[in-house]
Amino acid sequence: MTKYITIKANHLAISQKIKKIIIDKFENKGFATSDDFHKSTCLVISIGGDGSFLKAARDLDFPDVPFFCINTGHLGFFAEILPDEKEIDYFIQSLINEDYVINLLPLLEIDISNESHSEREYAINELVVRGNRSRTAHLEMFVNGNYMETFSGDGLIISTSTGSTAYNYSAGGSIVDNRLEIMQITPISPISTNAFRSFTSSIILPALDSQIRIKPEWRFDNMILLVIDGEEKRYQNIKDIKTRQANKKIKLLRLKDYEFWNRVYMKFLKTYDYKENERRNKL
Ligand code: NAP
Repeated sequence: MTKYITIKANHLAISQKIKKIIIDKFENKGFATSDDFHKSTCLVISIGGDGSFLKAARDLDFPDVPFFCINTGHLGFFAEILPDEKEIDYFIQSLINEDYVINLLPLLEIDISNESHSEREYAINELVVRGNRSRTAHLEMFVNGNYMETFSGDGLIISTSTGSTAYNYSAGGSIVDNRLEIMQITPISPISTNAFRSFTSSIILPALDSQIRIKPEWRFDNMILLVIDGEEKRYQNIKDIKTRQANKKIKLLRLKDYEFWNRVYMKFLKTYDYKENERRNKL
């Protein structure tokens, strides 16, 4: 049976150009390609930035096939290669020779309930719970049924290890080796005064047997903003939000030289001229 490669590219001209090159190269090797998920899809290629990968995984409903990311975006923490023909050839050869590893990224499973119904969402990076319209959020938090705190401040980030290098890190959370399965709760601008007491640093829980429950405390507004991997959702009269590690995982195809801490160094500390990269992409 013909194997399909599903290709998701963002709107950038460079991404569209790379998409065409990839289609030619894969079809020459006997693969079929498609924009949508096909029942014989064996790999999804995301061309863009990390945001493009997060969106592709969500749009395709977190399928059970590996993703491979090509960075034409800004940071490209998930990406294995740049939009360069030699790198693309190396990737295709590695795929055919099965010379790669698959990283399994745990997902958060998020149940959002009001009095009458409940809905389920999944996140690769994180769930952010914020007040509506920049109001202070007051959030009761429970871990495994035990009351922990009533948080007051801008909001709470509940992050996976994968998301630890994203919003979590900007908000002062720790970078976590992605081989560790944890959930990290990081406060955003917590208030810690005589009036309100909140944790001022992150707390880290084992993902496998922890459940985090957040109960918004309504004061002036009964609306809350949830941001799931960057996608905003506003809810009214939420009773609670329960988060735990999901049973399903997302697969990322990594080339054999991938190493997490080297990636952290390259993306966070090594000096890199993004403007030069943008200029090169426009050529
Ligand atoms: P976005 O513009 O798509 O992403 C914001 C930045 O976060 C981009 O540079 C993106 O990389 C990078 N990023 C995403 N996931 C990452 C990861 N796991 N490790 C390291 N960097 C990562 O923003 P968005 O559409 O609002 O939301 C997508 C993600 O962005 C969210 O899941 C959230 O973690 C992050 N975010 C960060 C902040 C912050 O740091 N203050 C605020 C909002 C959202 P690319 O440049 O390659 O796309």
